[in-house]
Amino acid sequence: MKRTVLLGTLVVAGMASIAAQTPAAPKVIDILKLKDNLYVLTSSTPGNPATFSGGNVAVFITDGGVTLVDDKLAGWGQAVLDKVKSVTDKPITRIINTHTHGDHTGNDNFFGTSVEIVAQDNTKANMEKMDAFKGDNAKFLPKKTYKDKLTLGSGKDRIDLYYFGAGHTNGDTFVVFPALRVLHTGDMFAWKDGPFCDLTNGGSCVALPRTLQKVIAGIKDVDTIIPGHSPMQTPADLQMFQRFTADLLSHSIDAQKAGKSVDDAAASFKVDKYPGYKNERVKAAIQSIYDELNKKP
Ligand SMILES: [Zn+2]
Repeated sequence: MKRTVLLGTLVVAGMASIAAQTPAAPKVIDILKLKDNLYVLTSSTPGNPATFSGGNVAVFITDGGVTLVDDKLAGWGQAVLDKVKSVTDKPITRIINTHTHGDHTGNDNFFGTSVEIVAQDNTKANMEKMDAFKGDNAKFLPKKTYKDKLTLGSGKDRIDLYYFGAGHTNGDTFVVFPALRVLHTGDMFAWKDGPFCDLTNGGSCVALPRTLQKVIAGIKDVDTIIPGHSPMQTPADLQMFQRFTADLLSHSIDAQKAGKSVDDAAASFKVDKYPGYKNERVKAAIQSIYDELNKKP
């Protein structure tokens, strides 16, 4: 009896040690060179937890150090650091968080308090609500914030940050590298599909087309766009996405007025006139618009 118990204990202990030794999936991040001093740590689309590392990260190498735009999911910090080290000896000195989500802010604590973390005011407020930034971890919250526009650095190292209004959340930053004519949109333009508007963080698919119109009017002189979660895009692609979101909004408003269900509204929205677009997220976006419209008096 005693021996059986002991044996059982050993088996359990042995299984636990096998579990501990099972190697985690290798953390693979691809790097894309956009310019001599600008790289992108690329993103897969969310969906496969084994390979999804978080959003597209811009790696901007300046005289004073490296600025990252976003820093992927928690647990990927070392992989991000290794990739950055593969292209520069300079230290990471600044992280711009485009918005609050964990696949864009997940390694703020990994890079520590020696880096300057920058975000829009509302994003900092949203981050304060996240478990990752509670208690002692509040020291990793953004130290530098802004309301509408902020310029960092000058000359070839200049970075312009813009806030144009609600969409994906209520605190999304558009990051421009003027000398390189490159714009990082964060998740305000994440993919060619229905937008995700995070209502719990002030997002609005009702406001999104209007906000994107302001972006298009307000940010000129860029050739390349780094979107939140898909391959590099152009300003023409952003304009098409704006039209897509406006079309989706008016379609949803009309469908709701006509008493149609979300399923019916999704079935009658055609993505074919938007080349390269999917409709995997269209129904969820329409649901989100319905929810927003229902809340309004
Ligand atoms: Zn997001």
